[in-house]
Amino acid sequence: MSTVLFWHRRDLRFDDNAGLYKALKSASAVVPVFIFDRTILSNLPPTDQRVRFIHEALQRLQKNYQVFGSELHVYVGDPVAMIPKIAIELGASAVYTNRDYEPTAIQRDQEVKARLAELQIEFIGAKDQVIFEKNEVTKDDGLPYTVFTPYAKKWKATLNAFYLKPYPNQQYATNLSALNAPTVPSLEQLGFSSAALYDFPSAAWQVPVISAYHQTRDTPAILGTSRLSVHLRFGTISVRELAKVALQHNETFLNELIWREFYQMILYHFPHTVDAAFKPAYDRIVWENQEADFEAWCNGQTGYPMVDAGMRELNATGFMHNRVRMVVASFLTKHLLIDWRWGERYFAEKLLDFELASNIGGWQWAAGCGCDAAPYFRVFNPEAQQKKFDPNWTYIRKWVPEIGSANYPAPIVEHRFARERILSRFKEALS
Ligand code: FAD
Repeated sequence: MSTVLFWHRRDLRFDDNAGLYKALKSASAVVPVFIFDRTILSNLPPTDQRVRFIHEALQRLQKNYQVFGSELHVYVGDPVAMIPKIAIELGASAVYTNRDYEPTAIQRDQEVKARLAELQIEFIGAKDQVIFEKNEVTKDDGLPYTVFTPYAKKWKATLNAFYLKPYPNQQYATNLSALNAPTVPSLEQLGFSSAALYDFPSAAWQVPVISAYHQTRDTPAILGTSRLSVHLRFGTISVRELAKVALQHNETFLNELIWREFYQMILYHFPHTVDAAFKPAYDRIVWENQEADFEAWCNGQTGYPMVDAGMRELNATGFMHNRVRMVVASFLTKHLLIDWRWGERYFAEKLLDFELASNIGGWQWAAGCGCDAAPYFRVFNPEAQQKKFDPNWTYIRKWVPEIGSANYPAPIVEHRFARERILSRFKEALS
């Protein structure tokens, strides 16, 4: 009997899981494993809802495995040490996993691979979280695209049925190991609270929402977008399945899935963008970085209703509508002249769907310093954005009920002054 491990990370599903399929085809006893990474958990507050989301997803995954007489083996620790240790204990000849393209994940995987190699155990990756990875969509000269539109065009031209084919894992489920697993630790045992601060969006997509997406996606007051971001983030849905739905029903929606892959590709090829501007000249900008302004922004107390509504939505639900993400990010960087990295970190703490590549991409786009970013002189006017995208004040009233009363603060900065200040400050840095 040949035993291998399958290591789940951001792919918390059984169906159409590429790496799991590879593992099942290769061995007669596949042991599915998940590790709560202590190095990540130790930096999170006990109420972090992402940990609750993962914990719930693992319980569903456990049930999937139990249907086939198998069990998910859940551990807590540092995966660099744990994976080789478990592989040895269970007599595994290989460890399979799905590739992750974030710089720290790449580094971790290199360390795991090296340690396994010393033990003569193979480490085998698969592509699962994107349709095209690394160098699969490049310019004709082989260099990575840095502009979205030609990238998307080539992405679509490269796509064919092969890339969307689901992996039929059920067919090979008899190759799952029947080994008993340790009990899954409770959230409390992990040092987290099981209290729900808010509900999680459903993983079931709504075809009517996707069909009307091009007309509804910019209206934050309605459910006009899919709310699937957290499921794409943790792999609780398959991107291949979703891309098929997009192809069938709405090209604008498909383009958004391509933006997600574009940013993952950019982060993979330009890892310096984790904490530096894609365009180096923008790192010369002298930011104001006023703590009091930052606090007002975080708490939704800037006196700009669209900005405040967005920040309060984020704080209360872990979600913010994309249109509003653009408005609040532009406001922080351009009206308040606060370093985009401060905003990026705040989003990283609060967003349920936080995903490094899209977050960095979104922030650098808004600040004007990213690849294919909004030009720096495009300063969103929050009032004009409200008139266009929340004309009846429905979204704003939901999150800022005291609007119009004496309890609502006056604007912390004047729009025209802020606009002139940013234009001259950016011009100075870039000249
Ligand atoms: P839909 O509009 O239904 O889109 C479908 C899917 O396409 C999304 O779930 C997402 O996976 C992808 N997508 C949509 N828009 C974008 C985009 N602009 N860039 C990349 N992927 C996109 N998205 C994240 O998933 N994680 C983040 O941490 C994140 N941070 C952001 C920060 C800023 C400043 C900005 C402007 C955008 C950010 N986005 C991020 C992108 C976008 O706002 C969210 O993906 C979207 O709002 C999620 O809602 P939805 O699932 O209803 O998206």
